[in-house]
Amino acid sequence: MNQIIIVKGDITKLEADAIVNAANTSLLGGGGVYGAIHRAGGKEILDECKKIVARQGGCKVGEAVITIAGNLPAKFVIHTVGPVWNGGVNNENEKLERCYLNSLQLATENKCKTIAFPSISTGVYRFPKDKAAKIAITAVRKFLNISDQIEKVFLISFDEENYSILQSELEASET
Ligand code: ADP
Repeated sequence: MNQIIIVKGDITKLEADAIVNAANTSLLGGGGVYGAIHRAGGKEILDECKKIVARQGGCKVGEAVITIAGNLPAKFVIHTVGPVWNGGVNNENEKLERCYLNSLQLATENKCKTIAFPSISTGVYRFPKDKAAKIAITAVRKFLNISDQIEKVFLISFDEENYSILQSELEASET
C-alpha cells in the first residue's frame, strides 16, 4: 500500500530516495528551498546542473531533471520548475500538476521507492497555498493510482500554514 505523508521540517534532512528541488528555469540560482539544497548538498549537485544546462539549456516550467544528491541523505535530487503565480491566467494549475507528475515519473524511472516534495511554487513564486496543496495531493494520488513502485511520498512543509493546509487537503481527499 503506498502512502502520502505530510511532514513539517527541512527537506534536506529527509532520508528519501529522491528529494525534489523547486528550481528555476536556469537551474543555476535561487534562494528558498533551492538555496538550502545546494548549501547542504555541496558543489557536486551544482556541477551536474551545469552539465544539464550545457546539454539542454536548463529546464522548462513543469518539467524535471535528475542529479545525484551530493552530501544529502537522499540518493537523488529531482529539480523541477514550478510556475510563477500570475492570477491563474497562464495555466499555472496544469503546470504545477506537471511538476509533480514529471518528478514522480523520473523517480520511478530511477527505481526510487520514496520521494519528498517541498510545497513547489508557494515561496517566491507566490502560488496560493490552498490551491497548490490541492494540486499536490491530487497529482500524487493520480500517479500512485497507476504506479505501484513508489511506496511513500512525503510532502514537506517548512511553515505551519502549508503544513495544516496539506493535512486538511489530505484528509478531505481520503473521504
Ligand atoms: P518557489 O520559487 O517554487 O516558490 P521557494 O524555494 O521560494 O520556491 O519556496 C517553495 C516552498 O519551499 C516554500 O513553501 C518554502 O517555505 C519552502 N522551503 C524553503 N526552504 C525549505 C526547506 N529547507 N525544506 C522544505 N521546504 C522549504
